[in-house]
Amino acid sequence: MNERVLTGDRITGKLHLGHYAGSLKKRIELQHQYECFVLLADVQALTTHYEKPEVVRDNLRHVAMDYLACGIDPERSTLFIQSMIPEIAELTVYFSMFVTVNSLRHNPTIKSEAAERGYNEMYYGFLGYPVSQAADIAICKSSLIPVGEDQLPHIEQTRKIIRRFHQLYAPVFPEPQALVSDIPRLTGLDGSAKMSKSLGNAILLDSTRDEVNDKIQRAKTDPARIQKHDPGHPDICTIYSYHQAFNPGQTNEIHAGCTEGKIGCKDCKLTIAGRINELLEPMRERRETVGRNPKRVDEILMAGTERARQTAKETMGEVREAMSIDYF
Ligand code: ATP
Ligand code: MG
Repeated sequence: MNERVLTGDRITGKLHLGHYAGSLKKRIELQHQYECFVLLADVQALTTHYEKPEVVRDNLRHVAMDYLACGIDPERSTLFIQSMIPEIAELTVYFSMFVTVNSLRHNPTIKSEAAERGYNEMYYGFLGYPVSQAADIAICKSSLIPVGEDQLPHIEQTRKIIRRFHQLYAPVFPEPQALVSDIPRLTGLDGSAKMSKSLGNAILLDSTRDEVNDKIQRAKTDPARIQKHDPGHPDICTIYSYHQAFNPGQTNEIHAGCTEGKIGCKDCKLTIAGRINELLEPMRERRETVGRNPKRVDEILMAGTERARQTAKETMGEVREAMSIDYF
């Protein structure tokens, strides 16, 4: 059997360049070598959006379109909807028995997400989402998880849960490895936080040319640089970090030009906007083709979910046997 890859996204909004750099790019490469599962994480989205489930509903097909537009091939990758696999919820309950509340409270990603969202008190569902994420990974028996760096504590938690399961019962799952991209954390346009769907600081993958140009023109650069001839500090500039991510061939030239005050912020922005548009152009074309047949998107989601459900049922059979709860 081919090794399996699982990745996914919370269905809280359309996907953006941070997703592309941190995870999607790798997923597209890996689908040629591995059996790939791509999770539309609607349940995990509800842990922060349970009061506005319509956001999740409205974004499901947008995210599916983003996947197809950026080159995830439904013939190679299984796209599936989390809430339609009840076995994930079941495995989450068993896994929750091996995780202390304290270890979740100390998880650095949970801590920073709770702070960003202004949560004083955490609901059980939000605090426990890393356990549910461990079940997503384990149910597909995935061994490789391409993620941005914010996900590393969750993958570590998953490995601990799986090791505990094996120690107590029997070896059922592979121990998954995180695969972190060269751009583990793309900064948002505001320059202060990670580019994120929920923070409104993103360039979406479905942006038009004009939207890209406009957002880049308004992005913050080195605040110390007022005139073109002022020496810049590329290492603290968001636009320079976009060159590193999407224009790697020119970084040396841009770094030197900025430091020596020879390239102005305006030209630097025009260049990167052009590169980003080159990256998005084939996505725009694919999106248009797929958009002509919206029924096809639903068919892809239904077929993928059915395939993933079959895998989930098989894994749960082994889990029940390992835990001696296969009574009949
Ligand atoms: P939300 O704000 O709703 O949590 P998000 O933008 O953080 O949304 P997720 O669905 O939580 O996106 O993340 C999906 C995947 O994309 C994860 O592997 C995550 O690490 C990666 N990712 C998201 N944003 C970035 C970013 N700015 N840089 C690199 N990777 C990212
Ligand atoms: Mg997130």
